[in-house]
Amino acid sequence: MRASLICLMSSLFFCLNAHSIELCGNLSQGELVVVKDGKDIFLFALSRDETSPYHYQNISFDVQKTQWDEQSIKGVAQNKVTPSKKDEAEILREQKDIGAALKTKSEMPSDLKKGFILPVEGVITGHFGYRRIFNGIKKNPHSGTDIAAPEGTPVKASSDGKVLLAGGNYFYSGNVVILDHGYNLQTIYAHLKQVAVQKGDDVKQGDIIGYVGKTGRATGAHLHWGASVNNVRFRPHSLLDINNKPCRSF
Ligand SMILES: [Zn+2]
Repeated sequence: MRASLICLMSSLFFCLNAHSIELCGNLSQGELVVVKDGKDIFLFALSRDETSPYHYQNISFDVQKTQWDEQSIKGVAQNKVTPSKKDEAEILREQKDIGAALKTKSEMPSDLKKGFILPVEGVITGHFGYRRIFNGIKKNPHSGTDIAAPEGTPVKASSDGKVLLAGGNYFYSGNVVILDHGYNLQTIYAHLKQVAVQKGDDVKQGDIIGYVGKTGRATGAHLHWGASVNNVRFRPHSLLDINNKPCRSF
């Protein structure tokens, strides 16, 4: 049982502190938070539009607002901006498959020791959370981070994981790989030219899982890198310092 800080004021001042929980990370919209509760570690994410106060068990804190800018993208194939009736069935298939993968309860052992690496090196051409305007039409905020790299560049597994989804040739995401890393944490790799793994495969950090492409809704070759924990999307770069985040005790 977790006891919070109980302070009693009397002639003597004394505090009983069975133990405290540490929350590690930037307590801002779109960020991953590592919970250290004694020897146990849990993860949660603050969604792009998270409101204050945020409650975790019996802790509550204010979530810092993040400034989400807009990004205008022109030259997108118009059928990918205003899909036809026929495309809607394809979009439903994509939502169902990816939605199911992100709701998967992790089967991987939970271990963060190795941390996470960038799946490809390159220039960031699309930030997580930005509202996007395709050919002048407002669309959903960006659910991941786009990293530009030449077509065919190998894409590496960001950490050890199990493949939950591979391929798909989806309307928006093209060919996708989704990895389970334990803790109900998944990473997502989209627009791949080709996948190099199959559903159910175990991969090690750095293994090649596919190749950069421009399948789905993409104006050029890039990797869309995404991350989700307990079905909440967050800025994937906040995985890179997962073991070095500043902590606050509660
Ligand atoms: Zn993207």
